[in-house]
Amino acid sequence: FPIILWFRKDLRLDDNLALACAAESLRPVVPVYILEPEDAGNGPLGAAQAWWLHHSLEALSASLAKIGSRLVLRRGPADAVLGDLVAETGASHVFWNRRYDPPGIAIDTPLKEELTRSGLTVRSFAGQLLHEPSRLKTGAGGPYRVYTPFWRALEASGEPVEPVPAPQRLVPPTDWPASERIDSWMLTPTRPDWAAAFSSVWTPGEAGAAERLERFIDRGLDSYKSKRDCPALPHTSGLSPHLALGEISPARVWHQTRGLTDAVAADDVIHFRKELAWRDFSYHLLFHFPDLARKNWNSKFDAFPWRHAPDDLKRWQRGQTGFPIVDAGMRELWQTGFMHNRVRMIVASFLIKDLLIDWREGERWFRDTLVDADPASNAASWQWVAGSGADAAPFFRIFNPITQGEKFDPDGDYVRRYVPELKDMPNKFIHKPFEAPLLVLKEAGVSLGQTYPLPIVDHGKARDAALAALQGLKAE
Ligand code: FAD
Repeated sequence: FPIILWFRKDLRLDDNLALACAAESLRPVVPVYILEPEDAGNGPLGAAQAWWLHHSLEALSASLAKIGSRLVLRRGPADAVLGDLVAETGASHVFWNRRYDPPGIAIDTPLKEELTRSGLTVRSFAGQLLHEPSRLKTGAGGPYRVYTPFWRALEASGEPVEPVPAPQRLVPPTDWPASERIDSWMLTPTRPDWAAAFSSVWTPGEAGAAERLERFIDRGLDSYKSKRDCPALPHTSGLSPHLALGEISPARVWHQTRGLTDAVAADDVIHFRKELAWRDFSYHLLFHFPDLARKNWNSKFDAFPWRHAPDDLKRWQRGQTGFPIVDAGMRELWQTGFMHNRVRMIVASFLIKDLLIDWREGERWFRDTLVDADPASNAASWQWVAGSGADAAPFFRIFNPITQGEKFDPDGDYVRRYVPELKDMPNKFIHKPFEAPLLVLKEAGVSLGQTYPLPIVDHGKARDAALAALQGLKAE
């Protein structure tokens, strides 16, 4: 009797416990990916991540073919699809790797009970995180709300479990159940093809993930701690979209950075692992506080006087705010499906504190446009910037988009890459073209309000308005 192996956010062969156990059993294995409907609780799949998913499933299919297997694609609610597949294949077992986001849990728990009741052996495994989010507890036995003690507990609980290698072969079933064609899922854009540039930046799939990690260890990890905040420099890994769909396991990433201390400073490795642990921390928060993407963690913010400003929101989304570092970030996001972490913080602060637009609007836009859109990291990070989150930056810490640009993109290379209409601006004014003398603008071929927008707000006044709104909250 075959084992049905349900792929979810673990689109890889390497370090995939459910797959490894299925392979070891020497039973026939039927790998399946299920495209679940929005109303199953997952919400809409973001457009950028849908593009990624399409290519990732193609890559997974090809990898499975190399070990004598296939990937069956089906669409529908997981319980109905798995029920059909059990009936079609006569399977006796169903294996999968666990998800830790609330819809994932809401689907798993009753499904496991239902399948078990109908006589199947159901096994779920760990592998999405460094450590199970329920395992780390404070001294009082509750969840962590603050990152630093969480990190200490994570470090103290030992290395993540040693990764398991990819199986060499999977036993195929005598008859393959029918599979839908991936093209019929229409995950990639047609016209206009807004994702045209994505494939020059990304290689979705397990091989792309492994290559990216290798390149990062060779060329990026050294100086990670001091240079990771500079968006023009290649000192961040770019692994987040691969991690988001589980094309590489965080344990594999962690273990691969072991024993490097000769070539790379120990500090850089620790700092990188600490960032990886932020991902676990975000899942820890989401696991214990399932409303993280919908509700202010700190309910005081429920009374915040957000502005309804659709035109300003649109200008932010399109990278037309007149603040070069913000516009460069939003355009990087549109063109590549990604944005550097420092710039994410700057643009998020700008939306929330300069434009006074609800952080949930930003969370939604990122969810649709990021190839690494992640239910835990996205929600936790937006609440972190808004100051409404668990271990959040205080609201009164308002990023100045000019000085942030000058500090982290001192030569303006990042701005010039994504805002080409400013390419000839001298460094002195690249982050504040609105302060440049007319002659300088003329020489750089910039006409404010025509070739590049005038600033959408006066940052100083916007800052005062944000602080006044915060004061209003405190007074309530
Ligand atoms: P690296 O610096 O190479 O870090 C390695 C890994 O650590 C990352 O791949 C990521 O998995 C993890 N990591 C790093 N920083 C963070 C962080 N602050 N929080 C959680 N995990 C982290 N990350 C997402 O994966 N998906 C999101 O949807 C997302 N939304 C964000 C929204 C906002 C407003 C902000 C400020 C941050 C968001 N982040 C999100 C976190 C962070 O920006 C990205 O994880 C990081 O930029 C990914 O780039 P990298 O892989 O090169 O990171």
